[in-house]
Amino acid sequence: MCGIVGYIGHREAYPVVLKGLKRLEYRGYDSAGVAIYDGKNIKLSKTKGKVADLESRVKDEISVDGSLAIGHTRWATHGEPNDVNSHPHYSNSGELVIIHNGIIENYEPLKQELINRGYTFQSDTDTEVLVNLIEDVKKNEDVKLGKAVQIALNQVVGAYAIAVFDKNKPDEIVVARLGSPLVIGIGEEEFFIASDATPFIEYTNNAIYLEDEEMAIVRRGKKVKVRKIKDDSLVDPYVQELQLNLEQIEKGGYDHFMLKEIYEQPRAILDTFRGRMLSNEGIIRMAGIDDNIEKFLNANRILVVACGTSWHAGLVAEYVFENLTRIPVEVEYASEFRYRNPIITENDVVIAISQSGETADTLAAIKLAKSKGAFVFGVCNVVGSSISRETDAGAYTHAGPEIGVASTKAFTTQITVLTLIALKLAQKKGTISTSEFH
Ligand code: GLU
Repeated sequence: MCGIVGYIGHREAYPVVLKGLKRLEYRGYDSAGVAIYDGKNIKLSKTKGKVADLESRVKDEISVDGSLAIGHTRWATHGEPNDVNSHPHYSNSGELVIIHNGIIENYEPLKQELINRGYTFQSDTDTEVLVNLIEDVKKNEDVKLGKAVQIALNQVVGAYAIAVFDKNKPDEIVVARLGSPLVIGIGEEEFFIASDATPFIEYTNNAIYLEDEEMAIVRRGKKVKVRKIKDDSLVDPYVQELQLNLEQIEKGGYDHFMLKEIYEQPRAILDTFRGRMLSNEGIIRMAGIDDNIEKFLNANRILVVACGTSWHAGLVAEYVFENLTRIPVEVEYASEFRYRNPIITENDVVIAISQSGETADTLAAIKLAKSKGAFVFGVCNVVGSSISRETDAGAYTHAGPEIGVASTKAFTTQITVLTLIALKLAQKKGTISTSEFH
């Protein structure tokens, strides 16, 4: 869940958005992109990598004139970090362009429905589903962009901060939020959109922080209109006067990133539960486990391999798994395991845990376990990372980027995923009662 920047006004938009993206780099990300609209043509450029990579790509690829632009830094949750999955995304007609931070939980059925109606998809993202859903609503219900966004968002389950514009509406950007932050900076005849105030603090101190389930239509030369997504009621927006300096804002008002990440834990845990714990239905849905349930249920033992903080998460998981599932668990330090000729059989399930998904010793342990025929399941935070590719199946933690060196939210979300897995297996095995499960 990374960064969003947008501009509409009298300036050239690209330099404002580019600088804004650089300001948001502290949030951590894997790809970056921008779309500029000059009133005639939409010019879009995006890339895996850093904002500096985007900058040089833009130089080669597109002209940058235009007074409306949106920019994005992505932390992949759906589809690996690559050029195609980077934002912005076009709708099928090429008329709508979107950037999105967050997770659309029910993207799969929505995507299927759109495919049935003839839509095609370039990327693996949930975001491209959302922009086509908006397009579909707009066409079928013959409504304007703002209304289409509202109707579409009422069909969406998940978390989002979005900014979207329409080629037919060169003076307007529509934004909305639920769960991911979004701020609108109000200047003189100009507006800024961003995940936090850092991208626009040098231009204006006046800002509207959208609340959850609110959307806004930001129109050149007009007052910002804020509405509730659910019932369409108009909200009188509170324009705050910001009194923060840049450095303070970058850390979200906290003194250190680590402190910020400690406070992000409830949100990160919620994102990890999102779409998995369906309490109404009394089930836990995790595709990586569902598709391989027999492997887990028939396992002689579970071997956890990990390093550092992830190893500690493994130690906690050992207690949880053995208690709930009665499957014996052994937790191994990956760097020891890989060098000591361990006994591994085809009846073992190996769970490899790593925040980055790149831990070299854990990767080597995975390869070793696979060579002995074990089924290997990965738990990591970075979509498309080496561990997510090397393992037979897995579950992401969705903690978002962790900048602090001492792990906080990465650890708690690992425990969350591992507990969900243990609960799911216990339910299947019947080692806990229905009332305990609930
Ligand atoms: N879910 C979206 C994706 O995977 C947005 C991720 C983000 O918040 O950057 O592309």
